Amino acid sequence: MSLGADWSFDLLESLIQDRGDLVVWETAVACPTCRRDDALAALSEETPTEATRIQKVNCESCYGTGFLYRNATVVKGLLTQINAGNRQLIDLGIAAPGDCVFSPSLYAAEIHDMDKITLAVPDVLNEGQIIQRKAGQDTDRLWYAGDGSAVWCEDENQQVYDVGSDYVIEDNNLRWVGRRPNPGTFYVIKYYYFPEWIVYASPLVRVDRGRDLQQRVVLRKKHVVFMNNETTTSAQRQLEQLELTGRIKL
Ligand SMILES: [Zn+2]
Repeated sequence: MSLGADWSFDLLESLIQDRGDLVVWETAVACPTCRRDDALAALSEETPTEATRIQKVNCESCYGTGFLYRNATVVKGLLTQINAGNRQLIDLGIAAPGDCVFSPSLYAAEIHDMDKITLAVPDVLNEGQIIQRKAGQDTDRLWYAGDGSAVWCEDENQQVYDVGSDYVIEDNNLRWVGRRPNPGTFYVIKYYYFPEWIVYASPLVRVDRGRDLQQRVVLRKKHVVFMNNETTTSAQRQLEQLELTGRIKL
């Protein structure tokens, strides 16, 4: 008995190849520098102290996210905003407005929770990022790698700074080369960045008659996923991560 037209894998793959974007996919691993007593990542720690329990915002290995990203691979896939066609993901509580769905090439390896997807096309960071000027160094860390251009930079005293003459953006760093805010002063920088998305609610593998059709993963912007990590203890982080990844799988 026929159930109608069969899936055309060649057609599905050619759609992804024709309409898809090239992205960089990186595997997430827990940071061994700052997550030694995290029960989600570590087997045990005999004598945990407050210092080891609290995530280090200034961790030199992971910059406070608790994850290292390794094995960068270029993958092609379709990236879709959550919209009317797939908003059942919002209704089920799996996705939130602003999230994306990513369908990688059928030949891509399996993508996992907390992995990172980076787009090759720069976008402007909506309202920008607020940074406190560090003492004793010329650079401040940005959430995302920039393409070198910026829209606006202004400190809490309404002093405006110009890209090129006052500061330059190099990868994940803003480096001051001219006039600069005083140490401790807060400023906002709105810049062009390469969007990074974190995979959560894991691969939604679609199966048809026992065959894997295609992975679909839900993506959330990196700075939204890790927004509250300055105050996150190990236990709080486990709850947050479970909330992100422990949902119903489709
Ligand atoms: Zn770390």
